[in-house]
Amino acid sequence: MKKNPLSLKEIQKDLTEKNITCVDLVKNYLENINEQKDLNVFISVFESEALERAAEIDDKINSGNAGKLAGAVISVKDVISVKDKKLTCGSKILSEFETLYNATVIERLLSEDAIIIGKVNCDEFAMGSSNENSFFGPVKNPVDNSRVPGGSSGGSAASVAANMCLLSLGSETGGSIRQPASFCGITGLKATYGRISRFGLVAFASSFDSIGIFGNNNYDIAALLKVISGYDKNDSTSSGISVPDYIKLSEQRFKPEEIKIGFAAEYFEEGLDPDIKNGVLEKIDSLKRRGFQVEEISLPHTKYVIQSYYILTSAEASSNLSRFDGVRYGYRSEHSETMEEMYVNSRSEGFGDEVKRRIMLGTYVLSAGYYDAYYKKAQKVRRLIMNDFENAFGKVDFIISPTTPNTAFRFGEKIEDPLSMYLNDIYTASVNLAGIPAISIPCGKDRNGLPFGIQIMGKKFDESGLLKIWNNISE
Ligand code: GLN
Repeated sequence: MKKNPLSLKEIQKDLTEKNITCVDLVKNYLENINEQKDLNVFISVFESEALERAAEIDDKINSGNAGKLAGAVISVKDVISVKDKKLTCGSKILSEFETLYNATVIERLLSEDAIIIGKVNCDEFAMGSSNENSFFGPVKNPVDNSRVPGGSSGGSAASVAANMCLLSLGSETGGSIRQPASFCGITGLKATYGRISRFGLVAFASSFDSIGIFGNNNYDIAALLKVISGYDKNDSTSSGISVPDYIKLSEQRFKPEEIKIGFAAEYFEEGLDPDIKNGVLEKIDSLKRRGFQVEEISLPHTKYVIQSYYILTSAEASSNLSRFDGVRYGYRSEHSETMEEMYVNSRSEGFGDEVKRRIMLGTYVLSAGYYDAYYKKAQKVRRLIMNDFENAFGKVDFIISPTTPNTAFRFGEKIEDPLSMYLNDIYTASVNLAGIPAISIPCGKDRNGLPFGIQIMGKKFDESGLLKIWNNISE
């Protein structure tokens, strides 16, 4: 495997000093992609276009007018629109579908001279925690090929961990960036709901979905975040709050007296792997030894996170996915006599098991007889979970926890048992219910040498704080 410089800062220095070119960088990544095809990371590779673009950006560098992301080679989860390219969502139903426009995040990346190297594999419609639900087959974890990379953004995490690109865009509804980042030993950031435009992201559960970033260090993540954040007239849920100078802030750290850190006992209970528990507690102790105030806080409704998350996201998914009917997008079943049969057959043949499970669960909880008992109740629980965080953030600035209860598991281990798969989101989904930002940073390795992350949750729109505390935690 060929190594490129590890950070965007180093890359940009090498580019301006003419030690390397963007064409060299892209060639190296393409070589890594080709040599590691068995990991099944990419659904489409934009080989010739990435090379052409690299040559154009080299010219811009030579004439001194390159954009802020010159040298950043990026993979994109295949739920985000890149104009004239396939947008499969890891599904048979969209396996041949091509999109007509760029997502806002893609427009913004291109305007700053980033290079998109291809689209990466994921669980079908971003539903899953292992990447085993993709129509294109599972992605293998680059750290241990017999294990899953996590999901649903498994291809994004693997592409960065296997040095097939510098950064990756993924999406989150309940942990799909942080969990695979943790399983693959890299960093993953989920921003505040509304910080990054969702225009061009295929909807799973619209009140939860957000685009986020995978990378090796906080500088690179900050550089990308700065470019893709901010109001977008095409997304009415995007926020107009101004975008800070994340790069500058990512190079700072907190003094112990500046912040208070919390940890919730509810995140360290039964079901947590002892190696992860010790690793995270050791980080907390190290912060305390350096004079940081760490206090216990309570998030009492944590025990209802998984139930309310799956009720609400399945309800939203059942409605969002109704547009895939065999008429407007993608796959249409060939053998139907009537129109109704065509709808039923296209959806039955086009969707995989997990997607069907969620559509059924979602339509059930929204049906007239059960709406109050399930959907409405879960909405109320969501409010209580939000209140838990509001109360906690009245006392502390950040909350530290493990990212996942376990490290990467083997293929097939959980796929037959949806409930045990869903429990993988136990520490991450609350963040999406509350709409707050969180980051998973590499924390250590378990007894088998498998990586795990530490999660830092922050106040709404305090992505800068997460990038700063990254430096304190990684010391
Ligand atoms: N694993 C979770 C689910 O299956 C999270 C998915 C996501 O964040 N997109 O719903």
